[in-house]
Amino acid sequence: MRIGVPKEVLEGERRVAVVPRMVEQLREDSHEVHIERDAGKGSFFLNSEYEKAGALLAPHAKDLYTDVEMILKIHPPTKCEVEMMNPRSTYIGFLFAASRREIIRYMKEKSITSFAMECIPRLARTQSMDALSSMASIAGYRAVLMAANHLGKFFPLLMTAAGTIPPAKVLILGAGVAGLQAIATARRLGAHVEAFDTRPAVREQVESLGAHFVEMEPVKDAETASGYAKEMTEEFLKKEREVIGNRITLNDVVITTAQVFGGKAPILITEEMVKTMKRGSVIVDLAAEQGGNCELSEVGKTIVKYDIVICGEANLQSTLPVDASSMYSKNIVTFFRHLHPTKDSSFDFEDEITKSTCITHDGKIKNEVVEKAFEKELNAHD
Ligand code: NAD
Repeated sequence: MRIGVPKEVLEGERRVAVVPRMVEQLREDSHEVHIERDAGKGSFFLNSEYEKAGALLAPHAKDLYTDVEMILKIHPPTKCEVEMMNPRSTYIGFLFAASRREIIRYMKEKSITSFAMECIPRLARTQSMDALSSMASIAGYRAVLMAANHLGKFFPLLMTAAGTIPPAKVLILGAGVAGLQAIATARRLGAHVEAFDTRPAVREQVESLGAHFVEMEPVKDAETASGYAKEMTEEFLKKEREVIGNRITLNDVVITTAQVFGGKAPILITEEMVKTMKRGSVIVDLAAEQGGNCELSEVGKTIVKYDIVICGEANLQSTLPVDASSMYSKNIVTFFRHLHPTKDSSFDFEDEITKSTCITHDGKIKNEVVEKAFEKELNAHD
């Protein structure tokens, strides 16, 4: 198989989908790997390292796309990138198909077989392919460092000749992958940490990391069969905001990570609640791109409102490009090897992982959820 790794085109993106170490693995499986010149530059992987690992350098994206039958990428392709893909070639990467209908339609028309990284089912055997988790973990870590940078206080307890400084107080909302990493990082920095999640199952994980679990009335049926949070009723969210409202006045930092898979993030902090926080406190909203957990967050920006710093930065993973690229690379190559175990094998669409992740194939949409979203759109036009 001739595999191509283009340079990511999203502005500010520093990661690369495949690092030199994983090129070696693909070469061991007898694949040919083509990499666009400088694709690894933002994450400090040199062209010479790729060549040493056995990759062929393509001077421009156009040459790369022309030469290969399989593209490995991070961000969903742009129209221009799909234009460059060979008809009937294969794409693996994030797709977020439901919100990118035009691109999916175009891939379908070109008979491109596409697999979405975000659709990998979360099973014990898929952990090494799970890019959502590895990237969420990076975001959780970075969120704490960002908060520490903006906070005008120390995180740890310090006993100095100039007096005793109490530890910073940090509240984490949503204790999934990002939230748990944020708890662990804030604890390592010495902060006092408390956390809340609607899924009662995470209480033990929160406590095992040395954080306090915020009490609220237990939520029944809080998660789906695949372990994601269910969307809560407005009545529940109102009660939740009351509980959070009592906590945020006591904390210096609030990191919000609450998400509902495929849906809009719940509003957990209203403007009125922000006004009640201690001056100089920091909110880092990791759900900003999904609508935000804080009513005032602005995507991609750090703003100050009512003397509170509110960070709605997007794509935090790109700010840790070396490890983010290495982790993503391990995820995508493991996934590719699952889809295509030997040099001459073809995709097994009966396989659970292949079936769940395939979005387009042979001029058709293969994913039920995406197909339904398309039908809905068609009906709306009728
Ligand atoms: P996510 O990013 O979709 O959501 C983040 C967190 O927000 C979740 O813990 C969710 O419960 C919480 N949340 C949602 N609404 C909330 C609200 N109103 N108030 C407070 N918290 C709220 O989730 P994620 O981190 O991607 O993962 C969720 C879960 O998926 C994991 O904790 C785990 O159970 C499961 N998972 C399984 C595997 C695996 O088995 N391979 C891998 C990763 C995750």
